[in-house]
Amino acid sequence: MRIVLLGAPGSGKGTQAKLLVERYKVPQISTGDLLREAVASGSTLGRQAKAAMDAGQLVSDEIVLAIIQERIMRPDARKGFILDGFPRNLQQAEALDQLLTGLNRPLNLALLVAVDVDALIQRLVGRRTCLSCGQMYNVFYAPPHLEGRCDECGGKLRHRGDDNEETIGSRLRVYETHTLPVVEYYKEHEKLRTVQGVGEISQIFKAVTKVVEDAQATARSESRTDAIRAAIAKHRATKAAAGKKPAEVKKTSGKAKPAAAKKAAGKKAASATATGKKKAVARKAAVKKKATAKKTAAKKAAGKKPTVKKKATVKKKATVKKKTSARKKVVAKKAAGKKPPAKKKSPVKKKPVSKKAVPKKKQTARKKR
Ligand SMILES: [Zn+2]
Repeated sequence: MRIVLLGAPGSGKGTQAKLLVERYKVPQISTGDLLREAVASGSTLGRQAKAAMDAGQLVSDEIVLAIIQERIMRPDARKGFILDGFPRNLQQAEALDQLLTGLNRPLNLALLVAVDVDALIQRLVGRRTCLSCGQMYNVFYAPPHLEGRCDECGGKLRHRGDDNEETIGSRLRVYETHTLPVVEYYKEHEKLRTVQGVGEISQIFKAVTKVVEDAQATARSESRTDAIRAAIAKHRATKAAAGKKPAEVKKTSGKAKPAAAKKAAGKKAASATATGKKKAVARKAAVKKKATAKKTAAKKAAGKKPTVKKKATVKKKATVKKKTSARKKVVAKKAAGKKPPAKKKSPVKKKPVSKKAVPKKKQTARKKR
């Protein structure tokens, strides 16, 4: 699960991030921590970052992205990561997407822990911490029994200096101007899911895990869809590659079949002549000749492919008519041998031989013409 965690200061997203780390055993990647770590390690990137910080400048997006890349390539991030504190603006969001897509590890989810601004101010402004035991209170919705005193130990409660409305107001303005476009960006890319960060931490986390599990299911179905698409593409490619071979096979088999058929036809034709079916055969020969003439014309008129297809179809049908067609061929050869000139004349001359059968066919043939 590759998650970007978004939320205004005080939204409690840090708490949710830690719970997510425990639940899903993926590292939380905080850019602040990464930068400190890089500087401490004295790596090239760390030195570059330090130089920027020493000069009072912001560490460039390039350096931060390089550090993020280095971090997510570590083995513990193989299953995913929770990125916290980055991106903070639209430009960074786009750059991050580019980086992750390039690494073939696109983001699965941008999780926004949303808090109503008034609620946020109440939470931050009302926050009180016991100086003795660290117990936390909120004067608005979890106040101590005695104002300024810890219920647990009676210690003094402290109001953090930066938790006043002015500071909070400016922090929220910064958040809104820079981070809201990031939220919009992820919404457009259908990565954004929002959880209301109000109420019990465990209840919020329940909502968070539901969103994460939905995103996981989506990611799984997407990878399945991708697998199916890949399989279809592979199948098509194989088919296309094989598309040439079957044509060749057909051609050769087409040549082989007639040869075999001729041999068989030789015997059968002989027996046919013996049985005295000359009339019928002559008729058929006439029909065959017309067909051949048509074919020849068709060949000249049409391209090569249609002819091949026709042959193939004819031959398929021939499986049934093998005997007759084979006979036809032989007889046709004989007929052709006797009367090589004008194809049209031969049927006419044979007409008297088979008076009864021929006229009908001739008529239909003429009509067709
Ligand atoms: Zn206390």
